[in-house]
Amino acid sequence: MIESIIPEIEALERRLRYYSIMGIRDVRLSKESKSYIRDPLFNINDLDELRQYIEGCRRCELHKGRKNIVIGEGSSNAQLVFVGEAPGREEDLEGRPFVGEAGRLLTKIIAAMGLKREDVYICNVIKCRPPRNRDPKRHEMERCVPYLEKQLEIIAPEVICTLGRIALIGLFRRDMKITEVRGKWLKWKDIPVMPTYHPAFLLRNPSSKREVWEDMKQIIRHLGLEGRN
Ligand code: URA
Repeated sequence: MIESIIPEIEALERRLRYYSIMGIRDVRLSKESKSYIRDPLFNINDLDELRQYIEGCRRCELHKGRKNIVIGEGSSNAQLVFVGEAPGREEDLEGRPFVGEAGRLLTKIIAAMGLKREDVYICNVIKCRPPRNRDPKRHEMERCVPYLEKQLEIIAPEVICTLGRIALIGLFRRDMKITEVRGKWLKWKDIPVMPTYHPAFLLRNPSSKREVWEDMKQIIRHLGLEGRN
C-alpha cells in the first residue's frame, strides 16, 4: 500500500516545492484530514481486511444489543452495490444483510434484473441492529458511515443503488427527500447512484413496485444488462 502511494507523495512534494517558490509558505492539512489519515481504516484496501477491522466495532451503543454485526455480502468485483438501512431481527440473528421478508423481495428484484445475489454486493449504512428497528441516530450514522464509504471505495462499483431514505442520507451525509430524488441519477465520488424505495416500503405499498422497476430498468440499461432478465 505505502509503495503504491509513493509516486503520489513525490508528485505532492514537487507541487509543494513549486508553491514555496511561488511564495506560498503555509499549506496545512485540515483537522479532519489529519484524523482520517491517522485512522487505520485509511490504509485498508480489501474487503477481508475491512471485515476483520469492523468485526469487533464498539464505536456506538448499538454494539451492546447485537447478536451479530452485519457487514455485507456478495462479490468484491460487483458492478452493482445495493445499500440498505440497517439489519433487522433476522439479519442480526444470521449476520447477513437482507435475509428477512424485505430481503426476500430484494432477492426477487435482483433475479428480475437477470442477476443473482452473488453477482452484486449488498450492505447497509448501519452495521448493527437498532433496538426495535428504530431509525438510526445521527451519531450512530456518523460512526458507521465510514465503513460503508470504505466498502464502496474498495469495490468501486459501476452503480450504487440506495434503498430508502436512510441509505440515501447516510451515503450523502445530508438530508434529502427520497420522493424528490427517487429514479434520478445522482453521483457519489464519480459513481452513479440510483436512489429507489426500500423493499420494506414496497411490502406496505405494493403499488410503488412499478416505480422501483422503472429505476431498476435504468440500472439495467446503464450496466448493459438488457436481455438477461
Ligand atoms: N432492511 C435493511 O435496510 N437492511 C437489511 O439488511 C434488512 C432489512
